[in-house]
Amino acid sequence: MPEAATVSSIHLHVGQEVALSGWIYNLRGSGKVAFVLLRDGTGLVQCVASVDRLGPETFSRIRRLGQESSIEVTGTVQADPRATGGYEVRLTGVDVVQEALGYPITKKEHGPAFLFDHRHLWLRSRRQQAILRVRAAAVRALRGYLDDHDYLLLDSPILTPNACEGTSTLFGTDYYGRTAWLTQSGQLYQEAGAMAFRKTYCFGPTFRAEKSDTRRHLTEFWMVEPEIAWADLDDVMDAAEDFLVEVVARVVAEARPHLEILERDISVLERVQKPFPRVSYDEACRRLADRGIPMEPEDDFGAPQETALSDLYDRPVMVHRYPAAVKAFYMKRDPVASSRALCVDVLAPEGYGEIIGGGQREDDADALLARIREHGLPESAFGWYLDLRRYGSCPHGGWGLGIERFVAWLCGIRHIREAAPFPRTLDRLEP
Ligand code: ATP
Ligand code: MG
Repeated sequence: MPEAATVSSIHLHVGQEVALSGWIYNLRGSGKVAFVLLRDGTGLVQCVASVDRLGPETFSRIRRLGQESSIEVTGTVQADPRATGGYEVRLTGVDVVQEALGYPITKKEHGPAFLFDHRHLWLRSRRQQAILRVRAAAVRALRGYLDDHDYLLLDSPILTPNACEGTSTLFGTDYYGRTAWLTQSGQLYQEAGAMAFRKTYCFGPTFRAEKSDTRRHLTEFWMVEPEIAWADLDDVMDAAEDFLVEVVARVVAEARPHLEILERDISVLERVQKPFPRVSYDEACRRLADRGIPMEPEDDFGAPQETALSDLYDRPVMVHRYPAAVKAFYMKRDPVASSRALCVDVLAPEGYGEIIGGGQREDDADALLARIREHGLPESAFGWYLDLRRYGSCPHGGWGLGIERFVAWLCGIRHIREAAPFPRTLDRLEP
């Protein structure tokens, strides 16, 4: 019996006969020779079927197989610089496991709606695989970074009793007769964690009933949220910068072949080096005005403003001290300008916009209570959160990075929905 192999390890088997299992990615050929591009989940390899080696019956069966038919084959491995991946397998035997007919995703152009309707199959295509492998590399990199830098993984709950950033974007669900909300941020729990362990993080799904259909919003996305005790806004910016530089470098090192499949300009990612430019919101507004970009005074930045700003720099830019009025209740006010919050957004280059939002938290119990009241939030739900300010409060802060936005930027893809295996958007809950 030939040794079982995978496409990813095919280079170890040159000159040997191996057994492979997989699916037909593409098939072309003539009367006597057929070229089967075999996909086994680890990669693609060209297999050559010839009537001489396989006999007329098997050969003609192969010739008729549709895309994505599943097969088990044996064959000898040859190095061949002309073939995809640099190797070729000369088939000595083929077992057809299931004959697929009329696979819906073909070489012709399909619209996004069709492709997302067939997401369960679309995952098999080369580009989608590259994106999702970059996503996996990004997750590994960010977890690795945080674990290596003494942040303790502390999972925040998904079902929560309180609305951290207002109720309008929350999904509710029945919880034994009361309403539980699917979390839109694990941050408040990380604040409790940071007071216990100094540096913590969570990484998990978050849910936001986003009402607008943009290319940067999903209703379900994964967010990593580190939190640090004894840290002010500058410390948070330093930590977020170090995190981003190191995580991007790890992804580039690990996932370069996948980024190349996506034809990503990797030099853009290699320029993600310290120091990131840091501009205040007020300074950013002046720069936008200089460039004639319209905006409402004291408003949050939207996509046009973020794009125009990031175009001024060759690496991510940190915008700090937004108007407190457009930011969440828990943000600490700037003691120098009380209308400004001690917050920071990191904007990715090339118009990708905000990928990180973070800042220093209000650590004074009275000020925090006043904010909760101003925002009309249910006070009773925040008793435990106020406890964190009553028992050993200290300056602290952190940030959140949405993995899909991060991956979309890493990969250079326009819409973040391709960065999720099964994206959930305003108009999509299937498949
Ligand atoms: P935006 O203003 O773009 O909606 P936000 O200010 O609501 O973003 P935060 O609450 O600061 O975002 O969330 C932290 C991070 O989570 C963002 O920087 C982004 O990477 C990600 N994120 C936020 N909302 C979404 C979403 N709907 N889909 C995907 N990622 C998101
Ligand atoms: Mg939002």
